[in-house]
Amino acid sequence: MAVADRCASYAVLDSTSAGRRFPEPPPKARSEFQRDRDRIIHSTAFRRLEYKTQVFVNHEGDLFRTRLTHSIEVAQIARSVARALQLNDDLAEAIALAHDLGHTPFGHAGQEALDACMRAHGGFEHNLQSLRTVDMLEERYGAFDGLNLMFETREGILKHCPLAIARTLGDVGRRFTEDRRPSLEAQLTNLADEIAYNNHDVDDGLRSGLIDPSMLDGVSLYARHAAAAQKEYPAISGRRLVHETIGRMIGALVEDLLAESGRRIAAAAVATLEDVRAAPPLIGFSSAMQAENRELKTFLRENLYRHYQVLRMTNKARRIIGELFEAFTGDPRLLPPQYQQMADGEAPGAENAGAEAVRARAVADYIAGMTDRYAMKEHRRLFGVGEID
Ligand code: MG
Repeated sequence: MAVADRCASYAVLDSTSAGRRFPEPPPKARSEFQRDRDRIIHSTAFRRLEYKTQVFVNHEGDLFRTRLTHSIEVAQIARSVARALQLNDDLAEAIALAHDLGHTPFGHAGQEALDACMRAHGGFEHNLQSLRTVDMLEERYGAFDGLNLMFETREGILKHCPLAIARTLGDVGRRFTEDRRPSLEAQLTNLADEIAYNNHDVDDGLRSGLIDPSMLDGVSLYARHAAAAQKEYPAISGRRLVHETIGRMIGALVEDLLAESGRRIAAAAVATLEDVRAAPPLIGFSSAMQAENRELKTFLRENLYRHYQVLRMTNKARRIIGELFEAFTGDPRLLPPQYQQMADGEAPGAENAGAEAVRARAVADYIAGMTDRYAMKEHRRLFGVGEID
C-alpha cells in the first residue's frame, strides 16, 4: 500500500510537505521521503558511521554497537512505531538514518571535547552538525551543496537547538523561536533513539563485563522482564536470558509509547500537520514508564558511562580531539587542501563570520567527519614521536 494511503490525515505526506530548498522534479518510482532515505544511505557521512564509537571505541570488540548499527536499530524502531500510528514510516526512517551523521569520533567524549574547543565560536553540537552535513558538507550533486533533503527530514534531524542559533537557521530554526512542535514522525524518532540506546547500552555493558547482571536487580524495567522470562523459561540463563529480557524491554517500551501517544493524539483531536505543530508534544511514554525509563538511564550513567574503563577511553579521546584542534587552528597549512580552502573563508556560509571563526569551523568540520581510527591516525601523524610519514 502506498504510504499516502496508509497514513492518518496529520502525517507528513509528499503533498503536505514544505518540500526541498532547491526544487527538483518529483521522483518516478518512489516517494520523496524514500528518496531522502536513499540519498542518506549513499552519503559519505553514512558510511563513516561504521567506524564511529557509540559507547565503546570501535576497535574494542566486533560485537559492540557502532553509530551505524545504532542508527539502523533506531530506524527499525522508528519505522515500526510510525507504521502502527499511521504515520509516514519513510520519513521516520530517513530521520533515524541521518540523526547521527554529524557525530564526532569517540562518542560523547568527542562531542564534549570539540564543543569546548569551539566555545569562542558558537560551540559544537552534533544535531546541528548532522544538519550541516546534509545541508552543506556532502558533495554529491552538481546542482547544490549537501543532499537537498525535504524540509521535514531536516527538521527531524535538528532535535534541539539553542534559540540564538535557531534564529540564524531560517525555516528549520523557526519552530524553536515560535515554540511549535515538529512532525509526529520527528517526535517518535527522537524517542526511538532513546529506546534503542538505553537497551543496546545495557546489552553492550553486560557483554563487555563492565556491568554484571546482578547490578540490574534494582532496575525495575530490567528486573521485571528478566523475572518474567525466567518464569516462562525456567532453564534460561546467560546471554540468552539477557537477550530475551532486552527484547521484552524494547517491546514494553514500544507498546507503552504506542498506547500513550495514541491516547494523546485522540485527546488533542488533531486533524492536520498544522494542528500537530500547534499542539503540545503528542508522542511520549506514560508517566509510569517514563519513571522506569529514567531509572534505567540513571543506572547506565552511573555504572557504564562513568565506569573507570570508559572514562579512561573518553579521557584519551578528549586529548586527541583537543590536540588535533589546536594543531590545525594554529597552522591551517597542516589541513588537507579542501579544508584549507574552507579555513581560508571559502566555506559555505562563511560570509557572515570573522576569519578566526571561519577557520575554527572548518577545523571542526574536518575533525567531526573523522572516524575513531582516522582521528587516532591523524594524531599519530602530527604528534607521533619517532615516526615521520
Ligand atoms: Mg542516536
